[in-house]
Amino acid sequence: MERVEQLRSLLLKNIEIKSCKKVMTHHTSDCLFCRIVSGEIPAAIVYRNDHVMAFRDITPVSPQHVLIIPLKHIASLSDLSPEDESIAGHILLAAGTVAEILGITESGYRLVFNNGKDAMQSVFHIHWHLIGGRTMGWPPFPGLSTVHG
Ligand code: AMP
Repeated sequence: MERVEQLRSLLLKNIEIKSCKKVMTHHTSDCLFCRIVSGEIPAAIVYRNDHVMAFRDITPVSPQHVLIIPLKHIASLSDLSPEDESIAGHILLAAGTVAEILGITESGYRLVFNNGKDAMQSVFHIHWHLIGGRTMGWPPFPGLSTVHG
């Protein structure tokens, strides 16, 4: 009986370790932006509320370049679920606030969302780039005309 108990306890331990590993695989500590949300990695935070946060991009492509992210870890648009419906609204509201903070409401700005390989998404925690502080071109492909409208 004692042997059976020992085996049972070993088995349970093994299951515990395996399920812990499984959780760790999906754990947000693997995600750079989740680590910024938790404060583990420092960032130049511009704005934060209960749903989203905005911080300066470490490699800015324009005089003003801020990333707006949901606090919740969502890897890509394909991972959005119906319960995430309100996130887009929170991001858009935050974008307006961030633009005010940056002083570019009048001059204008662009919100960019890179999703997937062709769009060159490099961090898999959804985020919107808010860029501004200079005149931009359109369409956004190198070598093409920058005249628009
Ligand atoms: P994307 O390529 O659209 O996925 O955008 C990821 C962005 O995250 C890039 O513009 C990077 O410069 C930016 N980035 C990467 N690491 C950091 C960091 N530690 N703090 C702020 N921005 C970062």
